[in-house]
Amino acid sequence: MKLGILGGGQLGRMLGMEGLPLAIDPLFWEPEATACAQLVGEHLCAAYDDPAALAQFAQQVEVCTYEFENVPSPVLGAIAAQVPVYPPLAALEVSQDRLTEKQLFARLGIPTAPYAAVDSEAALRDAVASLGLPAILKTRRFGYDGKGQYVIRSEGDIPAAWQALGGVPLILEGFVNFVREVSIVAARGRDGSTVFYPLSENVHRDGILFTTRARPGDSQQPQAEAIAGKLLAALEYVGVLCLELFDVNGTLVANEFAPRVHNSGHWTIEGAETSQFENHLRAVAGLPLGSTACVGFPALVNLVGTLPPLASLLAIPQVHVHFYGKSEKPARKVGHVTVRTHSESEREQRIAQVIELMQESR
Ligand code: AMP
Repeated sequence: MKLGILGGGQLGRMLGMEGLPLAIDPLFWEPEATACAQLVGEHLCAAYDDPAALAQFAQQVEVCTYEFENVPSPVLGAIAAQVPVYPPLAALEVSQDRLTEKQLFARLGIPTAPYAAVDSEAALRDAVASLGLPAILKTRRFGYDGKGQYVIRSEGDIPAAWQALGGVPLILEGFVNFVREVSIVAARGRDGSTVFYPLSENVHRDGILFTTRARPGDSQQPQAEAIAGKLLAALEYVGVLCLELFDVNGTLVANEFAPRVHNSGHWTIEGAETSQFENHLRAVAGLPLGSTACVGFPALVNLVGTLPPLASLLAIPQVHVHFYGKSEKPARKVGHVTVRTHSESEREQRIAQVIELMQESR
């Protein structure tokens, strides 16, 4: 099957790699000439507003998916008029705007942080007065890895926050005092069948995901599945979705969802019976979904900014290395490792070894 993928970053690359044994052959539409996915599939290197590229792409592929959220939705709409697109356009559009995303959560009875739309400094003052402090000001669109966010701790921070982010549509969110952050990766097939991975427990550093530990059997798994299940059904979703949640003393509060494979699910490549990438491919291709059961005790450590020497990483037992083939740059995700062990304590030991190596090689 020829699968069209919009985007050509590491998520596309890992989708392409998992597609090969299933005879799912990717065509990446990605404007960046050096895109790291191009080694694992055909590359259509063209701007998204190029009509000739659109015609060529739609003619060549049987099904289309995407690997990043900021796909221009009119392009996806034009493709959808010619070939099936999964996940559905509506899911993408809702997730592209933090306000519509929160409104959908509210409609489905899913708890979120309190929020207010902000489009002027005066509106920001009003929102601060009603939500209280601390609060986080965020751009409604195009934010990722903590970019486009400003934490407001006192009223004196308001002008600087407005200065930093004002001019585009914003949202103010009340600060959630969570005890931990978790996410749930789920897959829904074309026939509506749904599977959920064990919860991922996530630790961020400087707004970027740093480590994820799989938590099979977690007491909050049923709550997370109920919330994600509502979302998947409401969106008539097909493919993999990741929902990020705050754990507030046992109650899960939704932060945001991604209509795609997600960094916090990368541990599933070696740490689950079927990886999130394979299940996404199975879902969009109309194939049966695979088991999401954990294998061993898996965890993920992101390699951010710089890559430690490959040989040093591989010298640590039970470590599986994924370099993305991207150039090193501060705050850029350039790779990850999966740690997969036989016990919890062994897992912590391996994670600590990887982190130590990262610190040494900075
Ligand atoms: P986001 O881009 O919305 O995923 O935010 C990045 C990170 O900022 C989250 O993973 C949290 O660690 C933190 N964060 C975002 N929103 C809130 C909030 N309303 N309250 C507390 N922390 C937050």
